[in-house]
Amino acid sequence: MLRQYAEAKAQVPGALLFFRLGDFYELFYDDARIAAEVLGITLTSRSKGEDRVPMAGVPHHAARGYVARLVAAGHKVALCDQVEVATPGKHLVRREIVRLVTPGTLVDEDVLDARESLCLAAIALEGDRAAIALLDASTGELRALPEMGFSAALDELQRARPRELLVPEAALGTPRAGELRRASGALRVEGRGFGDGASAEQLLKRHLGVATLDGFGLREPLAIIAAAEALGYLQETQRSVARHVVRVQVDKPAGALWIDPAAVDKLELFRGPDGRRAGTLLSVVDRTLTAAGGRLLVRWLAAPLVNAARIALRQDAVEELAQAAVAREDLAGRLRGVLDLERLLGRLAMGQGLPRDLAGLRASLASMPALAAQLSACGASRLRELAPPLLGAEALCCLLSSSLADEVGPGREPGFVRPGLRRDLDELSELAQGGRAAIAALEAAEKARTGIASLKVRYNRVSGFYIEVTKANLHLVPGDYQRRSSTVGAERFITPALLDHEARVLSAEERRSALEWQIFEELRAAVLEESTRLRDCAQAAAEADVLLSFARVAAESGWTRPCVDDDLVIEIAGARHPVVEKALAASGDGPFVPSDVLLDATRRLLVITGPNMAGKSTAMRQVALIAILAQTGSFVPAQRARIGLVDRLFTRVGAADDLARGQSTFMVEMAECARILHQATPRSLLVLDEIGRGTSTFDGLAIAWAVAEHIHDVTLSRTMFATHYHELCDLSREKPHAVNLTMAVTEVDGRVVFLRKLVPGAASRSYGIHVAKLAGLPETVLRRAREILANLEAQELDDAGRPVLAGGQRNPRAQLGLFGPPAGAAPSLAAPSPLAASRPLASANPAAIVAGPVVPAAFASPLPAVPAPQPLSDALRKLDLSRTTPLDALLWLHEQQKKLR
Ligand code: ATP
Repeated sequence: MLRQYAEAKAQVPGALLFFRLGDFYELFYDDARIAAEVLGITLTSRSKGEDRVPMAGVPHHAARGYVARLVAAGHKVALCDQVEVATPGKHLVRREIVRLVTPGTLVDEDVLDARESLCLAAIALEGDRAAIALLDASTGELRALPEMGFSAALDELQRARPRELLVPEAALGTPRAGELRRASGALRVEGRGFGDGASAEQLLKRHLGVATLDGFGLREPLAIIAAAEALGYLQETQRSVARHVVRVQVDKPAGALWIDPAAVDKLELFRGPDGRRAGTLLSVVDRTLTAAGGRLLVRWLAAPLVNAARIALRQDAVEELAQAAVAREDLAGRLRGVLDLERLLGRLAMGQGLPRDLAGLRASLASMPALAAQLSACGASRLRELAPPLLGAEALCCLLSSSLADEVGPGREPGFVRPGLRRDLDELSELAQGGRAAIAALEAAEKARTGIASLKVRYNRVSGFYIEVTKANLHLVPGDYQRRSSTVGAERFITPALLDHEARVLSAEERRSALEWQIFEELRAAVLEESTRLRDCAQAAAEADVLLSFARVAAESGWTRPCVDDDLVIEIAGARHPVVEKALAASGDGPFVPSDVLLDATRRLLVITGPNMAGKSTAMRQVALIAILAQTGSFVPAQRARIGLVDRLFTRVGAADDLARGQSTFMVEMAECARILHQATPRSLLVLDEIGRGTSTFDGLAIAWAVAEHIHDVTLSRTMFATHYHELCDLSREKPHAVNLTMAVTEVDGRVVFLRKLVPGAASRSYGIHVAKLAGLPETVLRRAREILANLEAQELDDAGRPVLAGGQRNPRAQLGLFGPPAGAAPSLAAPSPLAASRPLASANPAAIVAGPVVPAAFASPLPAVPAPQPLSDALRKLDLSRTTPLDALLWLHEQQKKLR
């Protein structure tokens, strides 16, 4: 047996072999050690000659769960089953590997998240070029991404988050493989001998039944190789032809809004920082009723459209449904009855389907005509277009209805074929059941004959049929009873009549079961024959579900239809953050305060300042989320919105290191900045929440300033840049298209009150200590911080933060004011700032902006007397009364008065 084991093991290198022995799957040698460690099962051993063989086993009926746990830990598992019935006299049953289970091909419905795609990625590499194919084994969806550079491929893998990644064998063990593993986050990276272009093309053409792949738009050799590899791997692991893969979809370059992987994370589109769905954009907009609808919604949000006409078609559909409450309810009722056809088809294609899958398919298909009728009566053309594909599989529905019984059990139990379908089957069923009736009659007759009221005719798989008589009644047993076995309280007998029945009943049941499964196979083949139509039908239902979900959210949350066009204007009145608004409503922490935003080519850099916790991040993110929603076809949380199409969306948010990749916090921050500056276009939208915070103040400020300038002058992207470097507000003096915005606050009785409104202007303070107090820092620390702040603001501080003012002598460590003049010159607000004039930055002190005087540390000390700037007149000159509301005016006055005081 171990020789048979070794042969099987050699066929599946790298896999843990589950070797079927009777009612158990056993693992041996190192496999056993690994399984014992991962699964927490007992490691035993058996002697073999001198040696002992380590082994560990799991009951076969519970194997699914154990396999799933090993796969989740990144292992590949091979199932080696007995493929013939053990016959007495024959020592070794034949065993074969029936399936390989890997992270990217585990389609077990008990383990899969119904609303999440199951992604297997294959990457083909040639020099610095790469092509990626993404395959969802559970639904058969195969996508090929166009050829790209290696670093773009890393981005794509980061966005796709495949569970398993196939890479060329030669790349394994190289630094590139490490990069691919880290970027993809795959549980398992499998080295494969990727085929050449010609054989890959052959494989795909044969599988898809086409003479050319041109019809799919698949032409690039690398992309063909990647797609063929993914498909080949699925076929190989599942030992199936994977009939549910019926097409390959080629993503067009720039065919969708590119959301940078960092933006997907930081905007919390699909997962929060804890990896959960709660608190994400998806959690707010997902009102889908089917799992397939849920998965399609994720795909739409991950790749919003960049074509205004296509977006308008979706919006028309959403608008129509949003305005018709009754139609929404009707549609919802119909969609609720639709099962996950794609996955159901996947299970059947991979030989894992059961009769109940066929029954589920029948029920879902039966609900399609009503769904199609409702959609075809709609006004919006996109809704009407969904109707015909829903009706594509009516013939199959009839076949299933006429073939399957009304009630189909959940497992492999017999009786799932409709009585009357096949005469031979009906006869066998009758015999099987009549046999049972005859057994009952026999039991009654034997009771009467022997006078043993407790006599029972029973059956078990080991002994077959037998008559059981309790020990107390043994004296009544007739002479023709033959003893078979005994238990604690009873004896078991057989009679010739019973043996005869047994033979007839058992053979009838066996033959009935074989015939039923033959019919199941015929039906399965008929279903797979219709794979393409079924997938079209499933996709149409999923799309109806997503459009309905948008309509439900729009109607229930008061969202409005945005105007999406090819302009560069983003103008949103009364913008709200969908997630924060919902969270505030749930917690009762007051209403969400909407803000207005205008970004266009002439106001393309918004520098947003304001205290900590005032709502800057929220205000910026809500613009990004609204753009994503708008381009997906959804309505948006705003009073009115106009979105000039965005081609790429980037964020630079927060501080996180990536120690595994050898990158410090600041390095990560700078790498993100570099990506943005290299990849953004004038049509892009950038959300920059702090730049330059991970290094010294001066370096950080210098970098932040230079980045902002570059974006304004060169990249030209529409940008929101939140910062606590209040100096950056001076950019608006230098740069015509930079505008300052701030979060309105006011002080009441020495307390800061956040008004949560984005208003024109610049903040002068961050109120960081106020927020620290709210966060519960000890009072002694707060007191000391206030003291140090006061000293800093007066530029009087030694290394330990102690005041050092002595006889008017300034602290030599006091730093250069950013916009101070060269030594001896008097600064003027009209003069260009030293940064703008590209003068090398020696050092700077943010506090100097507010406090006025500047101290060039490298130059003379003490500082020459300089006149104070005139912030009030300057600010008054810049005030745009046509855009100032009474509240803004009041806030502005309050701010100026505060400064003067
Ligand atoms: P920091 O500078 O410290 O990063 P911030 O200015 O970016 O702070 P946010 O993180 O955007 O502040 O907001 C802080 C909290 O304020 C949010 O979690 C939310 O509870 C609340 N908030 C933000 N915007 C609004 C709003 N418009 N209406 C009501 N509450 C809001």
